[in-house]
Parts: sequence; structure tokens; C-alpha cells
Amino acid sequence: MLLMKTYSGLTSCLQALQACLSLLVCVMIWVQPAQAATSIHDIRLWTAPDHTRLVLDLSQAVEYNLFRLHNPERIVIDLKKTRMKTDVSKLNLPDPVLLSIRHGKQKGGVTRLVLDVKKGVSPRSFLLKKTKDNPHRLVIDLTPKNKKNIKPFKSNKQVKHGDIIIAVDAGHGGEDPGAIGPNKVYEKTVTLAIAKALAKLIDEQPGMKAVLVRTGDYFVKLRDRVKKVRAEGASMMISIHADAVTQRHVKGASVYTLSESGATPDRVAAALAAKENASDLVGGVMPKEEVSDPFIRNILGDMAKRDGLDSSEMFANLILKQLKHDFPIKYAKPKHARFAVLTALEIPSVLVEVDYISNPERERLLKRKSHQKGIAKAIFTSTKTYFTRLGMLDTSVPQIHTVHRGESLWGIAKKYGVSMSSILKLNNLKQQALRIGQRLRLPQS
Ligand SMILES: [Zn+2]
Repeated sequence: MLLMKTYSGLTSCLQALQACLSLLVCVMIWVQPAQAATSIHDIRLWTAPDHTRLVLDLSQAVEYNLFRLHNPERIVIDLKKTRMKTDVSKLNLPDPVLLSIRHGKQKGGVTRLVLDVKKGVSPRSFLLKKTKDNPHRLVIDLTPKNKKNIKPFKSNKQVKHGDIIIAVDAGHGGEDPGAIGPNKVYEKTVTLAIAKALAKLIDEQPGMKAVLVRTGDYFVKLRDRVKKVRAEGASMMISIHADAVTQRHVKGASVYTLSESGATPDRVAAALAAKENASDLVGGVMPKEEVSDPFIRNILGDMAKRDGLDSSEMFANLILKQLKHDFPIKYAKPKHARFAVLTALEIPSVLVEVDYISNPERERLLKRKSHQKGIAKAIFTSTKTYFTRLGMLDTSVPQIHTVHRGESLWGIAKKYGVSMSSILKLNNLKQQALRIGQRLRLPQS
């Protein structure tokens, strides 16, 4: 009996094992295709003035084919063993080059994406490997053929001969959010708002004109930022950023310039520069364009460029002095490191970390329009001081203005940067109507 029992026990044991094994095989067969398939779990669209970027988030690296079809113009992307797990209809379409997007299943587990594009649009695509904060990504850049009409910079102001051009660079953008605050405020959003406010103040100043390196939510490569600054003939470059650290209480602004070769290394500044220079990897550049150290070494040996470094230092000090009036300062002196975005050494170039977005209280302020304008105003004032000291800008207001045909009180007040009410008060006027030839005393702005 005992033997029988053991035997039957053994049999049931074996049976159970067999059942287990067959179940495992079944599970394996059932699971295998799912494991091998890549899923597209998000899709984003960034519209830049000169191209449109489509980014697919992937669960793993993928094999794909990209080809074009004409009449109508289409770009087709076949992704092998891939499943669409996101809703493409959430994209804000049409945009200037991409009209619509659709997808379907092909045989062999291929997901086909069809992009309906405008005529003459050329595609470029590349895969980005997974990083600490980003999944595997497939990037598709769509560039219109006729780029003649595309202006890289947006400005309402006409450049007058002799205007000082100032490049304002909003850090990060598009795929690269920059630092993210505890309440999910993005550095890229704050930097763009401050950059726009600063550009507005510059444009309002007679004799000065701003150019914005980035005008919307899209990514610009660090090297291209410098190229654009040079192409516009800018006399100064101001790059706006907001920093983040793990200690939530840290706050205050700091100003950075490029380090000279042989300067004492500053670990904090070097770490920050490494973080800012990594922007290209997050924002997405073609792997072959990646440079492990985006800094151009030899540039520092050029003595002709030295003046730019000295001017940067002088300008950085002016900004800190001005910011100090209304805002907390983290480092009282300018700091130096190898920032790729500051390599236009022939002109004063500074990078301003306006505050710490990692501090919840500062994050809340950085989101506020009045606060953004305040920071912009401080940077603008130091810019004005800088060029006035060099004798390049005349900010003195003439005492008397003679009214010419077609002029209004509003126009005159705007021209001299004073208020209409202050002109009225100073001239004991009750009404805004002016007569030709009338001499108006002007308040000092
Ligand atoms: Zn930054």
C-alpha cells in the first residue's frame, strides 16, 4: 500500500510537473511575440521656424525603413515588429510642413506611419539611445526645401544702421525641457518667457535691437545657437537658464562666462557646464554629429578673442550688481566654465542662471509674469549700462522736444521711454492734443 501510495504520489507529481511544463511552453509561446515587439508609447511634435520634428518614444531600439511617395507627397516609415500604443490624433496638426499623420498594421507585425507633408519637404531620421531620463527615441526631422522665406529670428523692429544687436538665447526647448521644478514647471518655458520679455525691452530702447535665438518650444543645437548669433551680427549674447539642485532650499542667481585656459578649475561651474552642454543629447542631434566634448579647444588659444572674455567678465559683473537690487544672488562673483553655447568669443557672452527652479518657492515666482519681467528688466538695465559706458549707446534724453507734423503725445512718450502723464504734468498741459512746433519739456527717464 505504502509503495502504491508513493508510486501514485510520484505519478501525480510527474503529471503536475508535465502540466507545469506544458503551461510554461504555452506561456512562452504566448509571451514571446509580445516581448519581441517594440511599442510606440508616446509621440510628440515640435514646430521650429525652419523644420518640424516628430519624436516617437519606443520601448526598445527598432528597425525601420523610411521612404517617400509622391502625388500626393508622403513620407512613409515602416517600423518592424512594432505596435502603436499611443494616440497620434493628439498632435496639433496641420503644422507648416506636416499636414496629417496616420498609421496602420502591415503584415509581419510592421507598423506603418504615413506622414502627409507639403511639397518639397525632405525627411531626415535617426535613433536616439535610451538615457537616464529618456527612452529609446526615433526622431524624424522634416525640412521644407524652400527655406528662403524662413527667418530664424522673430523681431518686430526694423534694424536701423548702427543699431546694437543683442542675441537673447532661451535655454533648452522642444525635446529638452531643461531642469524640471518640483511642481513640474519646465526650465525651457521660464527661459523663453524671460528671453521674450528681455527682447521686448531691448527693442523698445532706441539704438538697440534684439534677436531671439529661439522663439517657440523647439530645440536648437548648441552649435547652431552660436552660428545664429554670429549670422545676425550680434554684439552681445545673453543665454538665459534656471538651475536645479537636490537641496530644495537653495536659491539665487548666478552669472557664468567662458573659462580661460589655465584658469583655476571650478568644480561647481564645471558640473553645471557639463549639465548644460548635455542639452544636445536630450534635445536630440544625429549620433554622428555628437561630439563628446562640444567645446572647441583651440578657440581659447586665440589671443584676438581675449577681448570678448574680458568684456564678458565686465558685463557679468554689471548683471550681478543689477540683479542684487531685487533678487537673491547665489554667487556674488561671475563663475567660469566651458559652456558650449558661449563660444562666440569675439563678443561678450554670458549665461545667466536666473534662480533655482528646484526650490518650490522660487519655482512659483519664476512662473509669474511680473517676476519674469523684473528679471528681464535687471538684465536689460545692465546691458544698457554696458553699452553706455563703452560710448556705443546714447541714453541721455534731450530736454526739449519740438513737435513735428503727425506726432502724437503717445508716440513722443514712447520714443523717449517716459510716460504721457509725466510730459503733461511737466508742461502743465490738461489735454493730449499737440500743435506743430510746440516745444515740450521732457522728464528724465
Ligand atoms: Zn539650463
